[in-house]
This record gives sequence, structure tokens and C-alpha cells, in this order.
Amino acid sequence: MESTQVTLHIWMFTFAVGQSYAVRRRDGAGWALVDAGLPGNERPVLEALARLGARPEDVKDIVLTHFHVDHRGSAAALAAATGARVLAGAPDAPVIRGEVPEPPPVLEDWEVALWESVQSGLADVPPAGPCRVDVELADGDVLDWGEEVRVVAVPGHTDGSIALHLTSSGVLFTGDTIAGVPHVMLGVFNTDRRRALESFRRQAELDVQTACFGHGAPVVGGAGQALREAAARLPVG
Ligand SMILES: [Zn+2]
Repeated sequence: MESTQVTLHIWMFTFAVGQSYAVRRRDGAGWALVDAGLPGNERPVLEALARLGARPEDVKDIVLTHFHVDHRGSAAALAAATGARVLAGAPDAPVIRGEVPEPPPVLEDWEVALWESVQSGLADVPPAGPCRVDVELADGDVLDWGEEVRVVAVPGHTDGSIALHLTSSGVLFTGDTIAGVPHVMLGVFNTDRRRALESFRRQAELDVQTACFGHGAPVVGGAGQALREAAARLPVG
């Protein structure tokens, strides 16, 4: 796992598949994680946090943008190690808790080969296992990370996908509705592509300087313009 600083307060952790983020509160009163990485990564995540001066108990929130294994895989272990509360979009919470099976994506024709390739790459990855969800989030909910963090419901990649908008620093965590591989684009493997397109356009309207994706390099500076240009290239409908 690789740790990369994105901004003064944000670090990106890169796994074999996917990325998560650590956010240091601007008032110094703790840390939050956005997503948890593939299963079995709790030790490297905790070690990376320790190198940044964060003790396990300094992590107060673990927000899961959606239920996919590369985002929630290490959530249960990290929640146990840190005592952090776990937050996720309400429609995805029953899947994360293991109460209902994971709805599969509805693949576009061109996504089938890519899906099979990703699945074979994940063949040795253990299942995510259930994780408690302490707070079920809805659109417009506000968290306090020493600045306002606004929850934006972005259904389509999964029903309960959420983005997080740090309104004063202009940071957006998009989850997988938007990807950056290699340029800003609609994420793949959506349960409802039409809703995902709507959710992309909604995020493109936000006042954003930095965009952090589940896959692909973050856009640091001018991210709102990059999102709007990408939104303009999206198919209609
Ligand atoms: Zn995903």
C-alpha cells in the first residue's frame, strides 16, 4: 500500500485495486477515513496513519462511499482497531452489515471484459465480511470535521453511493460515481447507469477545487472546471 499526500490535510492510500483517503481535521482534533480499502489492509493503513502522527484512537469517523469490496473491505477491522464510528449511505448499509446480498452491477457491453479482468484480479481477495454501520447517511446530512462536510447522495454506482463535500476547503470525495482513469470520467460497473450520469452532473455543479476519486489520480486545483468539462462530454440520458 502506498501513501501519497494530496493536500495539506488529505492523504491517499493506494491498494492493489482502489484508493482510500485519510483526512486530518483542520482543528487537529482527530482524523477521518474515507473508505477502507481491500480486505486485509488494516495493518498498512494503521502504519501509514502512525507515520502521520495519528494513533488508532485519533480516527473518529470511517465513511464508506459505497459497499464495494475495494471500499469497505478493511472497514470492520479498522473500526475494531480504532473505535471509530462507521458511516455509510442508508441504502448501502444493509449490504455492508451483511444483512442482504450485494446487488450486482448492470454491465454495459464494453464493460464485460473489464469486469471479468477485475474479478480475476480479485480472485485471491477474501470476502469483505460484515461491518457495523453506526450512522446511516442521507443527502444533505452534515458532518463536522473541523469544517462542514456535506453528504451528497450520488445514487447509480450503487443505490446508496455518497459523495462528501468539504464546503470551505472545496474538496469533493466522489466515491466511484466519478473516476480519474486516466481522465475524469463516469465510473464503471454501475447498478443504474442513468442515475449515475445524473449524479455525475450534480457533482459537477458543486464549488470544488480538489476532487478525490475511488480510482485514479485526484484533481488538485480547478477540479470543478474539470468535472464540468467531463460532464459536458457525457452521453445524454
Ligand atoms: Zn465501486
